[in-house]
Amino acid sequence: MTPSTGLSESLFERARQIMPGGVNSPVRAFGGVGGTPRFIRAGRGARMIDVDGRELIDYVGSWGPLILGHAHPMVVEALHEAIGQGSSFGCPTELEIQLAELLVEALPSVQMVRMVNSGTEAVMSALRLARAATGRPGIIKMDGCYHGHADHLLVKAGSGVATLGLPDSPGVPAAATAETFVAPYNDLPAVEALLDAHGARIAAVVLEPVAGNMGLVPPEPGYLDGLRELTRRHGALLILDEVMTGFRVSWGGAQVLYGIEPDLTVLGKVIGGGLPVGAYGGRRDLMEMIAPAGPVYQAGTLSGNPLAMTAGLATLRLLRDGDIYRQLDRQTTRLCEGLSASALEAGVPISLARVGSMFGMYFQPGPVRNYEEARRSDTARYARWFHAMLAAGVYFAPSQFEAGFVGAAHGNEEIDLTLAAAQQVFTAL
Ligand code: PLP
Repeated sequence: MTPSTGLSESLFERARQIMPGGVNSPVRAFGGVGGTPRFIRAGRGARMIDVDGRELIDYVGSWGPLILGHAHPMVVEALHEAIGQGSSFGCPTELEIQLAELLVEALPSVQMVRMVNSGTEAVMSALRLARAATGRPGIIKMDGCYHGHADHLLVKAGSGVATLGLPDSPGVPAAATAETFVAPYNDLPAVEALLDAHGARIAAVVLEPVAGNMGLVPPEPGYLDGLRELTRRHGALLILDEVMTGFRVSWGGAQVLYGIEPDLTVLGKVIGGGLPVGAYGGRRDLMEMIAPAGPVYQAGTLSGNPLAMTAGLATLRLLRDGDIYRQLDRQTTRLCEGLSASALEAGVPISLARVGSMFGMYFQPGPVRNYEEARRSDTARYARWFHAMLAAGVYFAPSQFEAGFVGAAHGNEEIDLTLAAAQQVFTAL
């Protein structure tokens, strides 16, 4: 008998009356897999408990931030202490300096940092800076990379080689995306062709160094280096959007893992330890163009919020001082190897990729190098897999095109339970 999800269902019904789609961010609504999203009552370590009292092993981790797991005692304790001191001042605090110093220490390409409240805001601001610094209007982004919901980044790529971007959502004027050029991911010649044709108007190339918003697509060898070289040659800035990969795929992020030095870096998720934080940073000469040091305006009532800084600091200090990344690599490798072996045994073609504690599993033989290839996946099969795993108490991303995350709280017990459930589910798919 399938255990009841009645309370989630009635809450979803209630939510839909007064909130668009019943949620505050679209992917939570299970549109990609169908069914009713679980409403969550609490989280502890690698698990969440839904409102019907069902326990779920969580591989979403709030879409990436919770690298230490839910309610890590040291993060909770730090927050308890901080909130007693006041929740926001609108004045500078030492906490902001401490977090900025940690980011600068971890990222050789970053000499100065500005804190904001979300990844969207951080990317948007970094692009404004890039346009100001170069005096050029254009940007190049990659098909299938997500950089938040700012107008000029909500662009669907055309098929084939690079195309000029068209708005991806009603409400985004064509003018807003007119300077957004799109190339397929992992396709250096496409970027080169764009730069050869439009180089004089391109302010920046922006991308996820490991693409985590089309499932998981790692950069091919030479791709990031090639982009670095091309952008230098054409006088454009290279912006790495490490909102997802920052302090996730390694201490620092993908730029440390792959040895790339971008001009600007965008951060979010992990650096806020589960509270709303974004940040952008990079070379001093660029960052000193930001107000009030320079003329490029960008501000925020709650930017550098003391609670958010506290959660981020507690998280990053634990990551810096512990042996966590090695453990994450080990557990994620075990998970991915186990999933691959079960799928193979059951005769289900999958393609699985992992970078650090991020992973993605496509229901197709692969390889998957870009969004066009990712889209060949059997999404109906993914939905069946997702729901069967959910029924077994394991929560993967409710979409084929999202990365999964292992956290420090995923121990052998959670991985073993997951693999045991997966073996049964693959066999029945
Ligand atoms: N950039 C990347 C790579 C992301 O994955 C996301 C969100 O998932 C964003 C930017 C936007 O961040 P936020 O949702 O905090 O606005």
